[in-house]
Amino acid sequence: MPYTLAPLPYDFSALEPFISGDIMHVHYEKHHQAYCDNTNKALAGTAFEGKPVEEVLKNLSQLPEDKRTVVRNQAGGYLNHTFFWTFMKPKSGGKPAGDLLKEMEGAFGTFESFQEKFTAAAVTLFGSGWAWLVAKDGKLQIVQTANQDSPLSQGMTPLFAIDVWEHAYYLQYKNFRADYVKAFWNVANWEEVERRWMEARN
Ligand code: MN
Repeated sequence: MPYTLAPLPYDFSALEPFISGDIMHVHYEKHHQAYCDNTNKALAGTAFEGKPVEEVLKNLSQLPEDKRTVVRNQAGGYLNHTFFWTFMKPKSGGKPAGDLLKEMEGAFGTFESFQEKFTAAAVTLFGSGWAWLVAKDGKLQIVQTANQDSPLSQGMTPLFAIDVWEHAYYLQYKNFRADYVKAFWNVANWEEVERRWMEARN
């Protein structure tokens, strides 16, 4: 079965005014669709064709050498965006609750301090890539990945992320990435991050 895009879990304009409907249309219908189509093309005829994309990204070294880079980029882009849509939700933001909040306070001091560190990771990332909250060995960490690299390829479990490729914000925020990152907190879907954290620690 070829990979397909999961339906966007809300309307294209539902994240406004923080993320414009124009961005969501181009980002989902053009960029994400292209990563999906190119993943199907790249994996056709390999032993990984039809396997869960998570498994592909955890085992890049097992791919034929001439496929490794294209799969790393395209399958990474496909899965990163699949996650990204679920990391956002209309009328959300605020802060997490329960175990995740406690864990964040243990790892970063306060939620606000987590926000500052994550913001710094997003704003300072040079070029195209992502800032992530991941679980590694049962602990929370903030990391950056370049291009479409997946934390899964580095033994980490993705919990939350912001896409800081220019295509994610330029139409609305121009070169002001920091304004986009600031607005992003208003659509953070903490319920999804909590769910992922509980799954990752078990
Ligand atoms: Mn993107």
